[in-house]
Amino acid sequence: MEIRKCPICGSTRIKTAGNGTKLGTSLGAGIGGFVGLLARRGAAVVGAAAGGFSGGLMGLISGAILGNTIGSAVDEMFTKSWRCEDCGHAFK
Ligand SMILES: [Zn+2]
Repeated sequence: MEIRKCPICGSTRIKTAGNGTKLGTSLGAGIGGFVGLLARRGAAVVGAAAGGFSGGLMGLISGAILGNTIGSAVDEMFTKSWRCEDCGHAFK
């Protein structure tokens, strides 16, 4: 891993902005929850309420995990943005 420096003040105290991870997590949770909801609706039709509930929960959790993973990967590959902790400058 390369050492990055702030282009403004030269500080090495920088952090990834992590927007992709957050976006991926909420997006994944939303999609997972939605898929889980659809599964729950389908389950309700056949009267499996308990199965539907766990289906929604599992969809939400797996969606959040998947979204977090994808978001991290997106952060690494595309939206690699950094923020300087000393001067607050954001850069790529
Ligand atoms: Zn700086």
